[in-house]
Amino acid sequence: MDQREGWIWFDGQLVPWKDAKIHVLTHGLHYASSVFEGERAYGGEIFKSRQHSERLIQSGKTLDFTIPYSVDEIEAAKRLVLEKNGLVDAYVRPVAWRGSEELSVPGRNNKVHLAIASWVWPSYFSVEEKLKGIRLEWSRWKRPSPETIPSSAKAAGLYMICTLSKDAAMANGYADALMLDYRGLVAEATGANVFFVKGDEIHTPTPDCFLNGITRQTLIQLARENGYKVVERHIKPEELADFEECFLTGTAAEVTPVSEIGEFKFKPAKACTTLINAYTEAVTPKKVAAE
Ligand code: PMP
Repeated sequence: MDQREGWIWFDGQLVPWKDAKIHVLTHGLHYASSVFEGERAYGGEIFKSRQHSERLIQSGKTLDFTIPYSVDEIEAAKRLVLEKNGLVDAYVRPVAWRGSEELSVPGRNNKVHLAIASWVWPSYFSVEEKLKGIRLEWSRWKRPSPETIPSSAKAAGLYMICTLSKDAAMANGYADALMLDYRGLVAEATGANVFFVKGDEIHTPTPDCFLNGITRQTLIQLARENGYKVVERHIKPEELADFEECFLTGTAAEVTPVSEIGEFKFKPAKACTTLINAYTEAVTPKKVAAE
């Protein structure tokens, strides 16, 4: 990953990809004082770009640091990265972290840095392929209480349980893992939110201890526009037997149907197809009519 050609925006400068390095005594590396975003550009436009920049700044604030760039500056930097790398359909990864001035638990004297990289990360599957659904394993790791960790931030520290869960699931032949929360309620996958369908109702867990994904919010709106009743509520794992369809949502995952979560089976059908198509339509930039 670090040996590619291309350019990375690093503290206000475009630097060659291979030279975008940091010191081993970086606070963010030792104490997880790091926040990031995952965004996708479609046809040259980042979907919900400002919302991602605002969330990045907010995640930094939650970790008690100020990213030294405004939303407008971050927006301009992201456009520059796409342009300089000649990318139109791409994944965009801004990351902010505390630097290497001091190395001990307090981080206040460490400079906050920001870098933005972008690369091609296609949606590999056709709609037909996607509709086969992916298989998920229950994770042994639980999403912690918001009193234990600031779980609404997109912060590096929260991904330790995601990496552990996903690596274990993949080693067991599954595509991903579904995590319960500290109360034993259904929470989310390791990089995506989860939805369940029964007839014309769609249920999704209340995001009170995990990320309220930007794709999740978009899907709720699209589902309502397509005539579904969307219910956000606490869902117990044993309730999964009542649902017919299941799908994940996330910037990278987009809308990904699920065929299996542990002992529960689902059959991706009309709701998955309708919402995959609605999401594709929503992320595609609208051509402004010629005057
Ligand atoms: N939960 C986790 C743990 C994630 O990493 C992501 C991806 N950012 C999501 C949910 C979905 O968030 P979004 O739709 O904003 O990409």
